[in-house]
Amino acid sequence: MSTTVVSAARIITGKPNEVIDDGALVYRGATILWVGRVAELPQEYAALPRRDFPGATIQPGFVETHAHLGTRPGEGPHVPDPTRHVQGWNALHSVAVLRQLASTGITSAQSLGSRFNTDVAVREAVEQGYLDGPRIVAAGPMITTTGGHDWVDGGEVDSLDDIRHAVRDHHKAGVDVIKMAVTGGFFTPGTAQWKAQFTVDEIRTLVEEAHRLGKRVAVHAHGTQGIERAVEAGVDYIAHATFISDDGTTQFVPQLADRIAEAGIYVDVAAPPSFPRVPGETIAPRARELYERGVRIVTGHDIGAVIPAYGYIFGLKELERAGIPRAEILIAATSRAAAAIGLAGVTGVLEPQYAADFLVVQGNPLKNLDALDTRLLTVIRGKEFHPDPLPKYCGRVEEPGKPHRPESELAKRQRTLERQHLQQW
Ligand SMILES: [Zn+2]
Repeated sequence: MSTTVVSAARIITGKPNEVIDDGALVYRGATILWVGRVAELPQEYAALPRRDFPGATIQPGFVETHAHLGTRPGEGPHVPDPTRHVQGWNALHSVAVLRQLASTGITSAQSLGSRFNTDVAVREAVEQGYLDGPRIVAAGPMITTTGGHDWVDGGEVDSLDDIRHAVRDHHKAGVDVIKMAVTGGFFTPGTAQWKAQFTVDEIRTLVEEAHRLGKRVAVHAHGTQGIERAVEAGVDYIAHATFISDDGTTQFVPQLADRIAEAGIYVDVAAPPSFPRVPGETIAPRARELYERGVRIVTGHDIGAVIPAYGYIFGLKELERAGIPRAEILIAATSRAAAAIGLAGVTGVLEPQYAADFLVVQGNPLKNLDALDTRLLTVIRGKEFHPDPLPKYCGRVEEPGKPHRPESELAKRQRTLERQHLQQW
């Protein structure tokens, strides 16, 4: 196994406020051996050839905490009967997204919902060396109610016994994390995003069973009612945290945010626009408020649903536009995100014994996040990844040729509210 020495103008280690100027990183195989100042390199490493990147920054690889690798309904090959290819196409699509993630500088990703347990198979293919790409943390199919959010994934349950069975069955299929949809969602017609789908008792049963098997619980929650119940039930991670109130309007509840913060629950902040609309709002409308209440926010952009994999850096810039400091964004995207997906002590920090998962970017991202757009080197578990060219992504725009998403139940409800308001006036 060869030992490699990389150096640059600075190293952002992923630990809060730690930057090493004129830094060097040494790794052997998949593991980091040494991190520090070039001037202090131990003799045995100082004697080795060094790959130097003047003016650049070495930082941990990105961690995406909320990705979907598979296809969305309606996607498939252009053949007379695409239904014969649903599973195969889903797997191939997942591999394409895996490459996009790595090409964007993502070295670990949590899949929060995948049909056919494709994410588990992709994780194994990466582990066993069939595919190059980020380490995958897999949820398998999202657990939901019959006809509930994302039921097409195949994870429908309707009783406490169903819930226990689903968690055990997911465990048997090899998942790392259990994902539950505790409210309706925007991509499932007929579900109410502002209403909880499960009782506290049902969510708690799932949490207990998952924790017994050593698995974390991540929930999809738009409505405040669902967020409240999830906090009460002791979940580990909340996706979206949109704070949609019972009348369909967005109403941030500071006391609930405080409870999330106190419980140490991680929250990704990818969410639909607020209602009433706020002009110029980012793709993370609650980020600022949650951050100010001390909630542990992480960068899960709901890749595959809200933005494509190659929109990850755009998502980080949106957090800055939302008012989150750059140093905090980099923590949320690396070390904290790694901890949120169960990889604390494994990746997300540049320190001996951690995985050699790192990027070299041009310039200093603590001064300007544009630095992240030019990645000079991507290393995943000690192996250099050669990125594919990616399309440019600059916002939440409809992709040409793609059908518009059907109007959500919430949008219908909001239109009714608007009409009622006009009548009152
Ligand atoms: Zn999602």
